[in-house]
Amino acid sequence: MTQVVAVANQKGGVGKTTTAVNLAASFAVAEQRVLLVDIDPQGNASSGVGLDTAQLEVGTYHVLHRDAAAISAINETDLPNLKLMPASPDLAAVELEFVSFEDRALRLKEALEPLKSEYDYIVIDCPPSLGILTINALAAADSILVPMQCEYYALEGLSQLMNTVERIRSGLNPELKMDGVLLCMFDARSNLSSQVASELRKHFPVFNTVIPRNIRLAEAPSHGKPIILYDSASRGSAGYLNLAREILSGPTPQAA
Ligand code: ATP
Ligand code: MG
Repeated sequence: MTQVVAVANQKGGVGKTTTAVNLAASFAVAEQRVLLVDIDPQGNASSGVGLDTAQLEVGTYHVLHRDAAAISAINETDLPNLKLMPASPDLAAVELEFVSFEDRALRLKEALEPLKSEYDYIVIDCPPSLGILTINALAAADSILVPMQCEYYALEGLSQLMNTVERIRSGLNPELKMDGVLLCMFDARSNLSSQVASELRKHFPVFNTVIPRNIRLAEAPSHGKPIILYDSASRGSAGYLNLAREILSGPTPQAA
């Protein structure tokens, strides 16, 4: 059955897009059929797999507005098993344009439904906010994966995110599961990283896999490539392949 995974955290720059792109690519090389859905007006996931969003005619903006069928917004990538539904800057307008629509939170769910039979995984890259775009992702998703940086304020932001998840569960999507927190840009030599990680593990499910800070992961998007195609021997690439393996091999981690 198709798994829809929302990669979300309202905090900016924590590794959401890097995770969405590279987890999707790692699933694809593990012979899963994958759709990467970009709902961030910044369009970083789209350019991260090589799509020039300036040239874009149909994307998630048009799909959410029901101006285009979801299938018409699907693009090929350099990996045969990985398709992309791209975002464009006009997506930012949705927050205002959708205010008066009663079904505004369910547009993405509705759009993805007819595509599900084509994919094993649908991975959604969310913007850094808890606005209507992220709410659409959480309403459409089976689970949420939360990338995080191990820093002092990490736990505070996470409580706010979990409150939103609870609200979604009590209304739009009672089945929404927490996949886990993914520690990104992890520095094993830093005491703070280790302290925050062990504190997090007391309260939340946290993936066993951690993603190291790795310059190759930061370079890959400027080449329009997931890390597996840019430098498959890098530690960053190994990290995301391990994450895909951890998810594919079964039960999600539990909080201690
Ligand atoms: P936003 O909230 O703006 O959407 P984000 O949460 O999607 O940001 P990313 O864009 O994935 O975060 O990452 C932020 C920056 O950190 C980017 O420049 C990215 O290349 C870099 N980065 C992400 N993960 C790593 C890593 N493991 N090692 C080194 N650099 C990383
Ligand atoms: Mg991003």
